[in-house]
Amino acid sequence: MADVLRVCALYPDLMNIYADRGNLSLLQRRCEWRGLGFELAGAGSDDPIDPAAHDLFYIGGGQDRDQVAVAHDMAETKREALHAAADRGAVVLAVCGGYQLLGHSYELGGDELPGVGLVDLRTVREPGPRLIGNCAIEADLGTGPRVIAGFENHGGRTYLGPDEAPLGRVISGHGNNDRDGLEGAHRGNVIGTYLHGPLLPKNVWLADRLIELALGIELEPLPGDELEDAAHASARRAAGV
Ligand code: GLN
Repeated sequence: MADVLRVCALYPDLMNIYADRGNLSLLQRRCEWRGLGFELAGAGSDDPIDPAAHDLFYIGGGQDRDQVAVAHDMAETKREALHAAADRGAVVLAVCGGYQLLGHSYELGGDELPGVGLVDLRTVREPGPRLIGNCAIEADLGTGPRVIAGFENHGGRTYLGPDEAPLGRVISGHGNNDRDGLEGAHRGNVIGTYLHGPLLPKNVWLADRLIELALGIELEPLPGDELEDAAHASARRAAGV
């Protein structure tokens, strides 16, 4: 029987700004084009999650008010299961508002929203402009350095703990906090990033890598991927990396 990618989207009705649902559609298409199965489940407020029932957990971006709505529920009803899922090697992909909730806390306007503590990071709503614009980073997910391109728009600044690895280094844009040149976080198969776009349609190699990591398989490129690779290579050349 063909492998099946079992995806669980957390709070799909609240955490989905900037067309982050496109990330799920892209995963589905790339699986289907290869004859792999794809199953999508959702988990909203109060819904428990089964760490063994999914290969990839996804949480998209959200505005501050959406994060207020989900942060406590996520910490109370999903924290333990997410840790168990990460410990058994499931992929956790979190974008922007979802990424901020992977850490210890998101401090905004005198409030401190809890995170699930999957990675050692804190996010603070400091004075200063929102960090908005196109962003490109260089990241290595075990197959050599590659470009991830996207669009960022966040008021929160994220700071990684001393032993935490970023997803990548900023080539162009702001990244985690506009100071340290780091973007996102990466621990095992847990990945957080500020990049929307949506992220995966702009970086199909990353989508494939996540499918590989989630299912423990190796994938061949699909026809047409060479165009995407050429665009990424020219971005690297233009940036001198
Ligand atoms: N609300 C968060 C912030 O502004 C995240 C925004 C987002 O997901 N784009 O920092």
